[in-house]
Amino acid sequence: MPKPGNTGKRRSPRARSSAARAADDFQTPLTSQRIRLLLRLLKKAYPQVNCALLHENAFQLLAATILSAQCTDDRVNQVTPVLFARFPDAHALALADPSEVESIIHSLGFFRAKANSLIGMARGLVQHHKGQVPEDLDALCHLPGVGRKTANVVLGVWFGKPTGVVVDTHVKRITRLLGLTDQTQPEKIEQQLMALLPRSEWIDFSHRLIYHGRRICIARRPQCPECPLLAVCQRVGLPAIQTPVRPGSARSPHE
Ligand code: SF4
Repeated sequence: MPKPGNTGKRRSPRARSSAARAADDFQTPLTSQRIRLLLRLLKKAYPQVNCALLHENAFQLLAATILSAQCTDDRVNQVTPVLFARFPDAHALALADPSEVESIIHSLGFFRAKANSLIGMARGLVQHHKGQVPEDLDALCHLPGVGRKTANVVLGVWFGKPTGVVVDTHVKRITRLLGLTDQTQPEKIEQQLMALLPRSEWIDFSHRLIYHGRRICIARRPQCPECPLLAVCQRVGLPAIQTPVRPGSARSPHE
């Protein structure tokens, strides 16, 4: 007998909320075998990966990463050649007039806050590190405008040190869809990923997911049927993939 309030009718999967679907999807156990397969598939799909921000040294990468907050790498790459020609190192940027930095980076948005962060970062490098970028997570995170994500980018990309997993907007979104995390805060997602993934994968895993987020697992229109990760993806919160009806396969109403 149906329970009170239950009409006995089955609800279509589409009628259920994405939160309810997500809760169900997290019931599926996450095996180390599945993670190994995911890493293999990712590596096969994106064998060569690197950071899309143009840079020639650690200082430039640090500055470009600060500028990339809430902004695309392409837009950052349009302003950094001018910025680095005018302020080639931490000593020059530490003495910069904020209004000049603002005018160079104006097109990126949040230009006042970003100019403050850039100049503060450069002053921190000059005062505490002789103008050099330290190879240390804590030291980097103490610089103005530098958080864990920025520090992990610089340490991973320039120094080759896997100090953490970079969680940007693509990594945050796709790791949830894959069923690797049930967290929403980047710091907590990073802790879960660090526990799940071998340390040797920390650097390239993020780069590969960023590539994947730009090409296939696009926000609001993920291309699941063509996705190389479909076999291991839990597609958390997404509706079931509709199988297209082939011409001639539909039953006649007279059958
Ligand atoms: S199967 Fe779909 S949701 Fe999962 S990673 Fe691929 S595109 Fe994204």
